[in-house]
Amino acid sequence: MKSGTRIILISLLVVLAIPISSALAQESGPIYIVQPGDTLIYIAAVFGTTVEALADANGIEDPSLLIPGTELIIPGYEDISGVLTFYGVDFGENLFSLSLRYRISIDGLARLNRLVNPGQLYAGQPLIVPEKDEAASEIPNVSLHLPILGESKLEMAVRAGINPWSLSPLSGGGIRSWIVPGVPVVTPGGDGWSGALPSPYIEASINPLLTVQGRTTVFRVAINGSGWLSGRLSDRQLHFFPHDGGYVALQGIHAMQNLGLYNCELDLYSTEGGELIYSFSQPVRVLDGGYGFENINGVPAETVDPEVTGPERAMVEALLAEATQEKQWEGTFQYPSDYYTESFVSIYGTRRSYNWGAFDFYHTGLDLYGSIGLPILAPAPGRVVFAGPLIVRGNATYIDHGWGVYSGYFHQSKIFVSVGDWVETGQVIGEVGNTGRSTGPHMHWEIWVGGVPVNPLEWVENGFP
Ligand SMILES: [Zn+2]
Repeated sequence: MKSGTRIILISLLVVLAIPISSALAQESGPIYIVQPGDTLIYIAAVFGTTVEALADANGIEDPSLLIPGTELIIPGYEDISGVLTFYGVDFGENLFSLSLRYRISIDGLARLNRLVNPGQLYAGQPLIVPEKDEAASEIPNVSLHLPILGESKLEMAVRAGINPWSLSPLSGGGIRSWIVPGVPVVTPGGDGWSGALPSPYIEASINPLLTVQGRTTVFRVAINGSGWLSGRLSDRQLHFFPHDGGYVALQGIHAMQNLGLYNCELDLYSTEGGELIYSFSQPVRVLDGGYGFENINGVPAETVDPEVTGPERAMVEALLAEATQEKQWEGTFQYPSDYYTESFVSIYGTRRSYNWGAFDFYHTGLDLYGSIGLPILAPAPGRVVFAGPLIVRGNATYIDHGWGVYSGYFHQSKIFVSVGDWVETGQVIGEVGNTGRSTGPHMHWEIWVGGVPVNPLEWVENGFP
């Protein structure tokens, strides 16, 4: 059972306690528990009602005064009961599944939240839901059935060996109606329940639920039965690999990604024939990474020339686009140097201008202090996929750690490895230098996930996935 967080409305107004008439004018409706600092004006605004209607429904004589902890009946929702709380929508939930979970009509949920576009609940979206008491809030004993796109409910029932007449009462639309893509079919009984996801998915999650510019996002899906999985986040293909009995995909969110909603799609294909069996999609929100700005002066003009930076970036992106099958690391990555401090020459994500040009660049990695000749250490096992001189990156090395995760090292004075070499954690792969777009010796370290550079600090702090 998901537990919600009580709605807390903050205002600077100080409220004084006054008695509220015990004779309530209204008997039914959802209950809101008044929080410290609440006013009737705020509560009316949140629930799309008026101060007068709230006062009438609750027998309040002086609307300017409220006692925290008071249970208020919210008028206008007589068909809804329970205590109103906030719930952050999980990945794999939609209004349909939430209506079952909270035993409230889809229309009621949409009205309560004044949703403009009820079909587009994004992962992590805060919703007001009516929380019932423990006994009443048990997850309903229903199964969600796997429809094959294009078949009717009757055909699905025959195929799944279920009584077709059991479909109608819960799913609506009549037994002869066609299955609407994205709307699973519900039958009473059974043990399958996974939000809005039909029975082949037994679990799907995104961590973090609200994704952030520059961070690594972990997608987990468990499939009950056979089939193979494909996924996309906006225009990026997700690379799923078997892990812990399910599937995991790691995907970086670009540090300069425009904020907003991006569609995440999961497609399940049959093992035999490779037909699309089921497709689920839900918007995922990208939040601001909070990165700063810096100008760097005195870099060679050639290293900021789009005629040079563009092709070099395209070469690197093509090289790091592949996701190889074997995950080569365990737990966290090590720092690529024995010599590191808690401070850095420059952190990841900072928007950059060079030589007082436009802020068209951003820092794709983490710059560690280091003088020429300081050893560079592999932070995790992997295979070298690039080792050589570049104009912008200087003497550079990239290591493939599997699953679409790569690490890179720039501005080196010496490179000790070659393409195809296997390296172990802590192995010296080169030495710090000042080659390429650099204004002094330092170690530029970057990590790519799913074709996107992410904050390397996440990888020394967290053991992905
Ligand atoms: Zn750097």
